[in-house]
Amino acid sequence: MAAEATPAPATGRCLCGAVTITLQAWNPAISACHCSLCRRAGGGIMAGFEAPADAVAVAGDVARYRATDFAERAFCPRCGSNLWLRDDGGPYELSPGLFEIAAAFPLIREVYADCAQRWAGLAGDHPRITREAYETDNPHQEGA
Ligand SMILES: [Zn+2]
Ligand SMILES: [Zn+2]
Repeated sequence: MAAEATPAPATGRCLCGAVTITLQAWNPAISACHCSLCRRAGGGIMAGFEAPADAVAVAGDVARYRATDFAERAFCPRCGSNLWLRDDGGPYELSPGLFEIAAAFPLIREVYADCAQRWAGLAGDHPRITREAYETDNPHQEGA
């Protein structure tokens, strides 16, 4: 199931509208995470889609939090909306809910699937990657 191609740019915004994000390119695919950091930051689960750093323009004040040794989380300091998670030097993993275009993106995976709170499992045939499998192949925070 491919999302329909949407011509760039695409614009998203936080709840209060103080932060707007304009994308010149993106990968139309949603990854959801159930690790303990995402559970806390996102109220139980977080989801994101990637955009290359040079394709992202942000307007408005943004609060940044060093969530791990290698990644930041960003949110609107006024309304608290989660904006992105970004490994240092990597692409942005943007919150889908900020962007109308993301409504049609397919869910491609759940990571830390075995750590999900019971209510938060997502329906579908996408891969469900366990904590052990994810941490074997990716940088991660000990204890996440
Ligand atoms: Zn806001
Ligand atoms: Zn996570």
